Amino acid sequence: MAPVIVPVQTSIDFPPSTTVVVIGGGIIGLTAALTLAERGIPVVVLEKGRIGAEQSSRNLGWIRKTGRDKHDLPLSVESDRLWSEMPQRLGADVGYSQAGIMYVARTEAEMAGHETWIKSVGGRSLDSRLLSPANIAELVPGGSGKWVGGIFTPSDGRAEPQFASSAIARAAMAKGAVIVENCAVRTLEMSAGRVSGVMTERGEIRCEQVLLAGGMWSRRFLGNHGVSLPTLPLVASVFRTAPMQGPTDIAVGASDFSFRKRHDGGYTITQRGALYAPLVLDHLLIGYRYLPTLRAQWNNVRLSFGRDFVNDLSLARRWTAGARSPFERVRTMDPPVNEGLNAEALRNLSKAWPVFNSVEVKQSWAGMIDVTPDSLPVISPVARIPGLTLASGFSGHGFGTSPAAGQLAADLVTGSAPIVDPTPYRLERL
Ligand SMILES: Cc1cc2nc3c(=O)[nH]c(=O)nc-3n(C[C@H](O)[C@H](O)[C@H](O)COP(=O)(O)OP(=O)(O)OC[C@H]3O[C@@H](n4cnc5c(N)ncnc54)[C@H](O)[C@@H]3O)c2cc1C
Repeated sequence: MAPVIVPVQTSIDFPPSTTVVVIGGGIIGLTAALTLAERGIPVVVLEKGRIGAEQSSRNLGWIRKTGRDKHDLPLSVESDRLWSEMPQRLGADVGYSQAGIMYVARTEAEMAGHETWIKSVGGRSLDSRLLSPANIAELVPGGSGKWVGGIFTPSDGRAEPQFASSAIARAAMAKGAVIVENCAVRTLEMSAGRVSGVMTERGEIRCEQVLLAGGMWSRRFLGNHGVSLPTLPLVASVFRTAPMQGPTDIAVGASDFSFRKRHDGGYTITQRGALYAPLVLDHLLIGYRYLPTLRAQWNNVRLSFGRDFVNDLSLARRWTAGARSPFERVRTMDPPVNEGLNAEALRNLSKAWPVFNSVEVKQSWAGMIDVTPDSLPVISPVARIPGLTLASGFSGHGFGTSPAAGQLAADLVTGSAPIVDPTPYRLERL
């Protein structure tokens, strides 16, 4: 069962034209639309299902600098600032709290990884620090795990995925954005060699610029226009508990579980060390590009071959503006939950912090993540299609960076000074 997001009454209008069309009402498309609307630029967001219903409401809600690729840190630092301004900007609580993020290490090799990361980001004035087992016991009491040490960043945080997209959508509409749900974009319309509109299942909308923020669907959308975006799907299963007296407010990750306190008093928990990769045709086409990552992460990835392969094959890779597109066939990607992995996470966590032995599991769900070969997103103009900008491939960590990532996408669309240097996110690097 998917997490329920705070309901939003989206627009009933379907304007014939606008300045910018955003394809995808996930948190990236919505923050971009909010930024555009705040700048007085007419914008229409088109979402094939319900806003936030795919990755953006299913994630863990971690807002993390710890362990990030150093190229992604400026975006994370800007996002921390923007998250802290959200309540004022949106006039709504998105559950943001700078409660800190900690990773605990069971082995010297894991600890060495944290030490290497801290060295690699030295000089960036982060508040990350290494922890001894005694520090861990002090910060997260009641544990019985045998840790070699850990890493902690007090300024990392969390927000509530089930609040955030709705609040951003509402604020964007209050500033003039139009958001249309249950409206798939089938194709781009081109004239004089550049984007001039989009064809949707409800007809055409003319526009000057398009931002594609379609999450895992962006690869298929672009493929239909002859542009290759290498992303592969990974599925993570998650569950939440009833409100409980937990050991800490800090979000904690180990190699085989993670937990973080929720706004409702419960915890969101996952088997951090196990991502499930449903094999699809794209693995055969572009899987070789992921081999270095796969070698490093081999123990964490569980491959599966079966129904997903057939389901994926049944979705078209080429279609025309007049034909029903794959986006109308799958309104919301809702992958099956791997209850075995969730049970594993709870067992591992309970061994480490026995207070979790007696939790009441309230709900479980799964989400499909779009992963690029270098795990960095693409936030970039698409050179082959003038007028098209892409913001996708957030590789399992786009919730945390969404405020700055959405703003960067809006900057690129409008030619404004970018919030951070966009070079690491160019499509051409892939
Ligand atoms: C289980 C899980 C845990 C995660 N944990 C974290 C975490 O703790 N911290 C973190 O930072 N990130 C986390 N992430 C990643 C994070 O959720 C994503 O990076 C982020 O939500 C991406 O947002 P998005 O808007 O790009 O994609 P999405 O939320 O997937 O939105 C894309 C939207 O585009 C729509 N769409 C696609 N094509 C079309 C079309 N042609 N027409 C109309 N609409 C279209 C889709 O329906 C969808 O709603 C996690 C993800 C998952 C699944």
